[in-house]
Amino acid sequence: MKIGCPKEIKPQEFRVGMTPNAAREAVNAGHEVLVETHAGSGAGFSDADYVAAGAKIIGTAKEIFASADMIVKVKEPQAVERKMLREGQILFTYLHLAPDPEQTKDLLASGATCIAYETVTDDRGGLPLLAPMSEVAGRLAPQVGAWTLQKANGGRGVLMGGVPGVLPAKVLVIGGGVVGTHAAKISAGMGADVTVLDRSVNRLRYLDDVFGGQFKCAYSDAATTIELARQADMIIGAVLIPGAAAPKLLSKAQLKELKPGAALVDVAIDQGGCFETSRATTHQDPIYEVDGIMHYCVANMPGAVARTSTLALGNATMPFMLALANKGWKQACAEDKHLLNGLNVHAGKLTYAAVGVALGLPT
Ligand code: NAD
Repeated sequence: MKIGCPKEIKPQEFRVGMTPNAAREAVNAGHEVLVETHAGSGAGFSDADYVAAGAKIIGTAKEIFASADMIVKVKEPQAVERKMLREGQILFTYLHLAPDPEQTKDLLASGATCIAYETVTDDRGGLPLLAPMSEVAGRLAPQVGAWTLQKANGGRGVLMGGVPGVLPAKVLVIGGGVVGTHAAKISAGMGADVTVLDRSVNRLRYLDDVFGGQFKCAYSDAATTIELARQADMIIGAVLIPGAAAPKLLSKAQLKELKPGAALVDVAIDQGGCFETSRATTHQDPIYEVDGIMHYCVANMPGAVARTSTLALGNATMPFMLALANKGWKQACAEDKHLLNGLNVHAGKLTYAAVGVALGLPT
């Protein structure tokens, strides 16, 4: 099969769909890999790295879309890319179709077979191609929060780990899933005094069993949340209610009760944010202040560490990419119900029920 990897064109997207190592695996399995020139540069991979892996460097995305049997990307195809998709071509990437009727319409019109990273599942009920980005965002949250807490950035001027004789920062993590667990681990590793809130008692049991010595856990109700928020130097929002907007767990009025200069890092901003005063920001202008409280609300946090994110995503997508290339999408999906769950669009038909419900289209 010819596998094509174009350069990402969404603004501020530095990741790339295939690492040189993934290209090498595909070439070793007998496939031809076409990579657009400079596709990997944002993630620190040169054209020479891909050539050394056995891939061919191609001058334009147009040529790649015209000849590849499968396109492997990171972000949803942009309008200009959607026009280049062909009937029978496989598209393997993040799609997030539910809030995006325009993209859905174009993918249906293309006749391509579109498999979305975000709906591929695993045996434990998880989302294995979303988890690496949650791991990245979770581990990044205390790092950006610590920077936000610095005086010059408008923060309280508190050091995460304190120093001998001075207490460390208090960090409250709301939501103890993938993002929250990684945020708590790194915060604790930086020496902070960390508490994680979750609404799932089973999850709290797990966190207590595994991380009991590193951070504390409590049940997430409104009274506990505001009580702990009042004491916190940093609050990391990491909740998710699948398929729904994030619940607002701190109101604007409650900001007055927080410590002046406290840092709110709202990782859940891509689901609307879990603080009433959150609004999406960018890596160029990541923080803003409301009522003396600093907010960091970047919607695509993994982009800040494009190399780590590309490698982590590549590790997770590689087995699926190889299965699609080796067996073709039909056989690969027939043999793996989790990959089949990734199928969102095929030959002009919507094949993922939740997207159909969200957009009012038949599946
Ligand atoms: P997850 O499903 O692994 O964890 C979410 C947790 O939130 C669950 O344990 C759930 O029990 C808990 N929860 C739900 N409602 C709660 C409440 N009211 N109080 C406390 N806990 C509650 O999800 P995840 O992978 O950790 O993702 C968390 C959020 O981060 C999502 O909104 C996701 O889209 C977002 N995210 C953002 C970025 C970014 O760049 N900003 C990157 C990755 C993930």
